[in-house]
Amino acid sequence: MKIGVLGAGAMGQLFGGRLQLSGNDVYFIDAAPATIQALNSRGITVESEGATSHTPVRAGTAADFTETLELIIVFTKSFHTEAAVGSVRHLISGTTFGLTLQNGLGNADILARAFTPERTLAGITDFTADLEQQGHIITGPGGKVRVGTWTGTTEPFLRRLVDILNKAGLNASAKEAIQEPIWEKLAFNAALNTLSAVTGQTVGQIGASAPARELVARVVDETIAVANTQGVHLSAERVDAALENAYLYAGEHKTSMLQDREARRRTEADYIGGAIVRLGEQSGVSAPVLNALTTLASAPIQ
Ligand code: NAD
Repeated sequence: MKIGVLGAGAMGQLFGGRLQLSGNDVYFIDAAPATIQALNSRGITVESEGATSHTPVRAGTAADFTETLELIIVFTKSFHTEAAVGSVRHLISGTTFGLTLQNGLGNADILARAFTPERTLAGITDFTADLEQQGHIITGPGGKVRVGTWTGTTEPFLRRLVDILNKAGLNASAKEAIQEPIWEKLAFNAALNTLSAVTGQTVGQIGASAPARELVARVVDETIAVANTQGVHLSAERVDAALENAYLYAGEHKTSMLQDREARRRTEADYIGGAIVRLGEQSGVSAPVLNALTTLASAPIQ
């Protein structure tokens, strides 16, 4: 398949690298000249549990490519989605599908405007990707992808997408009610990432602290209440199980929001907690704990 990866950072390199290795024709589209140069000269090495695989790749800015694509996977940070999608309109034909597996709310709506709602696919992934250096990705041993159509309708392309993701070792399955896993992951991230960014605590330190656990529980409850206003009914048990799993098996991990904050990079807090708080306000449901944590997590570090 002819695939564009829009945002060739950590996740873009992991997914794009594996899709290229499994026989697809992948175009890596980024806005950072240093990243483009590194990918064109070094290719991509994906490392998992000490084993590596390597492929040469083709990278450029959106303007460097002219042929329309069958699929564009968006992997920028949420605050760059609008500009990034706007830059690839010439690569989108009437048959191109857009896919977002990003964290945060609002990305699929941006894709729906560019690709049409019918050709917008959305989902979640719990694969992790860390950039050892540009072109060298380290990922954990496991992970999965859940993907569905944004309109909730049946779409034959979804089957093809799941097949190529599985061929690339990305453990994918199609889900009819994709909003549920998206909101479950949102609740998880709103609680754990936002609190860790505020307190500087690792996942394990949050799990070991009764007051931190109390705040996590409040944010999960608030997110479930807001999700209800959107017609999405979340299973608190599933969110809690994912959190307990993280405390147990990812105790040393610093969430990406904490890493971004420590590196004084912009965080996605406004697209995770902030978006939930705003949706709640529109529907008369307040989320005061999440609002306070998001405000603190978004404040610049002096
Ligand atoms: P990243 O910062 O490593 O990569 C983002 C890339 O987008 C960068 O290379 C940047 O140069 C590029 N970019 C910015 N503006 C652009 C534009 N206008 N056009 C094209 N490219 C542009 O981020 P990441 O860690 O890969 O995360 C991407 C998304 O995936 C985020 O929503 C994140 O929350 C989510 N996610 C990340 C992980 C992870 O382990 N890294 C896991 C699951 C989900």
